[in-house]
Amino acid sequence: MNWIEVIGWVGNVVVITQFLQKDMLRLRVLGVIGGSVWLIVAIMMNSLSLTVLNITIIGIQLYHIRKIHMNNVNKERFKAMGTTKIQCSSCGTINSVGLHRLSTGETVKCYMCSTIIMG
Ligand SMILES: [Zn+2]
Repeated sequence: MNWIEVIGWVGNVVVITQFLQKDMLRLRVLGVIGGSVWLIVAIMMNSLSLTVLNITIIGIQLYHIRKIHMNNVNKERFKAMGTTKIQCSSCGTINSVGLHRLSTGETVKCYMCSTIIMG
């Protein structure tokens, strides 16, 4: 077995493991690692098509990792802003509404009866 095949098999294990993940961040990180291993194989094979493919895949994975990271940062920021309680005029349910939603002007519906309670 030559080195290209050995590295290719390592890449296969990483890519297969990637697609077994439920957690999206872990899936994307393994995608970067698997793409990088396959990029090495592509370069060793002198294959331009596989090189371009794996650079593209790595770029897409990094884009999604950044998006997941920014969503997590925003979630933490919103959590830090706190919540307010709004009573539904229709069913009387007290709804806990994130204060960050006050500034966006979006409509907020009662979680019990879907009556619009804000916006
Ligand atoms: Zn309601």
